[in-house]
Amino acid sequence: MKTFTLPPLPYAETALEPFISARTLSFHHGKHHQAYIDNLNRLKAGTPFEDAGLEEILTGAEGALYNNAAQTWNHTFYWNCLSPQGGGEPQGALKEAIERKWGSFEAFKEAFSAAANGLFGSGWAWLAKSGQELEIIATPNAGNPLKEKKEPLLVIDVWEHAYYLDKQNRRADYVADFWKIVDWKTVSERF
Ligand code: MN
Repeated sequence: MKTFTLPPLPYAETALEPFISARTLSFHHGKHHQAYIDNLNRLKAGTPFEDAGLEEILTGAEGALYNNAAQTWNHTFYWNCLSPQGGGEPQGALKEAIERKWGSFEAFKEAFSAAANGLFGSGWAWLAKSGQELEIIATPNAGNPLKEKKEPLLVIDVWEHAYYLDKQNRRADYVADFWKIVDWKTVSERF
């Protein structure tokens, strides 16, 4: 049977301070992300997905197996949306596509922040691509745009475990800090 393992963070646990603390990254990556991977390995044993790749499980499975596969995928993707060298604005084709769709980068940021802040309960807010069309999608729980055949470009985790140690209930403060560490170089390459 194929066994998934926790990928290391692409930076040090202290790298995103002061916006995301080492304590948050330690729990979020080392405990929460790890738990989804452990659950995924346990739940897929003895199913037709035993030797499947992660995206195959994500797009094909339902219920608890889907939830843990998606949370595994989503967290790895989220870590790779952030960088201590991040912040600022996208350049090139992505910048132009954002401006075509929302009028300006500032207007896009407002719309994305509103989606992240407005999502009731736990979930994720995404910038995704469908054909050449950009879209902001808020998905509750373990949602993922790949389930709707849309390609994720950027995500923010708005489960409370992503910000509670640093910001307590102030999700809007976490979302505001997110923009200071978005790795636009990587996001632009995905586009
Ligand atoms: Mn999370």
